[in-house]
Amino acid sequence: MAMTQCEECGNDISDRAQSCPQCGAPGQAAQAAAKPQHRDKVGRTGGVYEALGFVMIVGGMLTTMAAGPGITNNVGIGALVGGIVVFLVGRFK
Ligand SMILES: [Zn+2]
Repeated sequence: MAMTQCEECGNDISDRAQSCPQCGAPGQAAQAAAKPQHRDKVGRTGGVYEALGFVMIVGGMLTTMAAGPGITNNVGIGALVGGIVVFLVGRFK
């Protein structure tokens, strides 16, 4: 277990400590957990597909509904089905 110094009070604390036991300042472990944006963007590219698929599903539904009952709207249905596919691809990516 490596020790590190508290940035606030200089107390020796574990580098895995969530906070300094002496002054309560967040430790290195807490600071690393507080800003995971870099790792998130690299590891979760599927989120882009999820968002795109969701937009297509909603757009397809709105287009289909706007066309009214009884009218086949291939564009709306195509966007709806395509959106579901894209969404699922993003889910399991
Ligand atoms: Zn401290």
